[in-house]
Amino acid sequence: MLVLKFGGTSVGTADAVRRVERIVRDAGPGALAIVSAFSGVTNTLTRTLELMRRGDTAGAFAALDGVEARHRAMIAELGLSVPTARFTTETIDRVRGLIPALTALGDITPRAADTILATGETLSSRIVADHFAAQGLDAAHLDAREVIITDASFGAAQPDTALIEEAVREKLPPLFARHPAIVTGGYIGATPQGVTTTLGRGGSDYSAALLAAAAGADECQIWTDVDGIMTCDPRIIPAARTVPRLTYDEAAELAFFGAKVLHPLTIFPAVRKGVPVVIRNTFQPAHAGTRVIAHNGNDRRLKAIAFQRGITVLHIRSNRMLGAHGFLAAVFDVFRDHRTPVDLVTTSEVSISVTIDDTTRLDAITADLRRLGDIRVEEGRAIVSLIGDGMRETAGIGARFFSTLRTVNVGMVSVGASEVNISIVVADKDLERAVGLLHNEFFDGGAA
Ligand code: ASP
Ligand code: MG
Repeated sequence: MLVLKFGGTSVGTADAVRRVERIVRDAGPGALAIVSAFSGVTNTLTRTLELMRRGDTAGAFAALDGVEARHRAMIAELGLSVPTARFTTETIDRVRGLIPALTALGDITPRAADTILATGETLSSRIVADHFAAQGLDAAHLDAREVIITDASFGAAQPDTALIEEAVREKLPPLFARHPAIVTGGYIGATPQGVTTTLGRGGSDYSAALLAAAAGADECQIWTDVDGIMTCDPRIIPAARTVPRLTYDEAAELAFFGAKVLHPLTIFPAVRKGVPVVIRNTFQPAHAGTRVIAHNGNDRRLKAIAFQRGITVLHIRSNRMLGAHGFLAAVFDVFRDHRTPVDLVTTSEVSISVTIDDTTRLDAITADLRRLGDIRVEEGRAIVSLIGDGMRETAGIGARFFSTLRTVNVGMVSVGASEVNISIVVADKDLERAVGLLHNEFFDGGAA
């Protein structure tokens, strides 16, 4: 059994939906297809909610008209029949019916918001299933709320893996007995009482991993619009290429540094169960993509260079740190109090340096930190990170790393506790040069 998840751009146009049908058909019997909302639809629904919150009933209706028109155009282009169009109108009409009262209340509860946000996947999954059927691919449509059972944390519901497993065991086999494929929507779930929830933005990958894990799928394929995870951002490094395999830890490090392809926490359920997660390109189906696995075996190769711009470094220097306990805790309390995540951290006997990328509370943070010591703030920095499992066991990588960068002014240096990365801070203006030098050294010459 295969799980194939198609993101918003993979179902964004009629041409894309036709591609999806061919991919699922080629996967053979036992294919569970999970689709996102058509690209942009969840954003429009979010905007609709925003308009409702502001009391703009007319604006909310207009935004919803746009959502309906988008789906009707898709249905027309795919040449689908009347029932699909009727289902679409009925689904949108139910949301329309909620608008006046909720807008008048002026208080859109997270529960109400989830019911509205779920519309995108409710519609896309039905339209895709109907297209499959029209093409002679006999696919069952499954309402995700029957299998993705969650708690009631609306907007970011926590899945109940035991209940999901139970539901999957009960619902999937009878469907697969009669149909080669099943289509369901990502992102949506329900409480055990049947109240609609959502897993949070981008949650369709999470749905895919949860269902792949629960069903013990052979593979969880994430179909998107790129060839997988790259050795570096191709907009900066044209020679960047797809990484064929990497471990979950490596993917996690990469994602932190803004590799937008996937959020590793969302695929964790599959990886933990030993289900490989493979990133594939709907628009280049012949490309093998990137395979994310739990463990690497003996593969010690370097995998990628990641970077993140817009970093601010705070250096905190205190004489009290010498021999004092509780200083680090006091420093981190400040960041916690201001709900600002800290990324890299380095310490010496009398100082600590941390990086943050969210500077909305910077003034308040520095004011609080001044009570603990001298503060120096460096803005316009970037983090560059070389990622590869087991790098510390490979003698000489550190030496090569720093000699490659000998003409670049390197700030903080951190070797990840997970032993899969070396990270440094450079000035933003040096970023592209540093990344280019490193990619050339570690990936161009075939060294990796
Ligand atoms: N449609 C949802 C979103 O845009 C979920 C997803 O696409 O993964 O956030
Ligand atoms: Mg998405």
